[in-house]
Amino acid sequence: MSRDAAGRGPTVAFACDRCGRAIFAPVGDGPIDVGRCPGCGQEQPLRPAPQAGRLERCLCCGLDRLYVQKDFNRKLGLGIFALAALLSVPTWGLSLLAATILDAALYRLLPDVTVCYGCGAQHRGFRKSAAHGAFDLHVAESVAARARAVVIPESEQVRG
Ligand SMILES: [Zn+2]
Ligand SMILES: [Zn+2]
Repeated sequence: MSRDAAGRGPTVAFACDRCGRAIFAPVGDGPIDVGRCPGCGQEQPLRPAPQAGRLERCLCCGLDRLYVQKDFNRKLGLGIFALAALLSVPTWGLSLLAATILDAALYRLLPDVTVCYGCGAQHRGFRKSAAHGAFDLHVAESVAARARAVVIPESEQVRG
């Protein structure tokens, strides 16, 4: 898999099942990568990296339902507007206009992050797949319903 100009390879970020801390794992060229939790040291084996950097399935849970969103830091966005609001009186409101333009520019420049509907793992640095659209509540609900169905096996439901 080729690295981009900045030397950053694709990465996956997800929450540790044991302690809930965020684990960031680089996705390398090797067949299997392992993410190690910085909190408790738990190791989470990851699925093999996709061919040609095109992500088809979640690298944590293997689910094929993924959505794409902008990798936007909400705190940064709110900070820009809070600062603009403070400056709006001395600048006659021009700072708010500048913040709006800056926000729009940042949004265009920001990379995409591909998120798993099932486990919420965030995949960065992969090639965008046409199969993955914006977040869809209906898909999220169907994935949640399927997850519940897996928890209660059908045979148990019949007997119960
Ligand atoms: Zn942990
Ligand atoms: Zn997943």
